[in-house]
Amino acid sequence: MANYLCEKCGKVIKSEDLIGLPGIRCPSCSHRILYKSRSPIIREIRAR
Ligand SMILES: [Zn+2]
Repeated sequence: MANYLCEKCGKVIKSEDLIGLPGIRCPSCSHRILYKSRSPIIREIRAR
């Protein structure tokens, strides 16, 4: 079970919310690029 983070609006979407949808899409803003938020985001900030 992974959570996804919308690139556009930053909404967290549960993977179970994507079941039944035609492809991965943000249910809030219909943006199609979502990040998997399984790995800690803090790591990416420190990498800069
Ligand atoms: Zn969104």
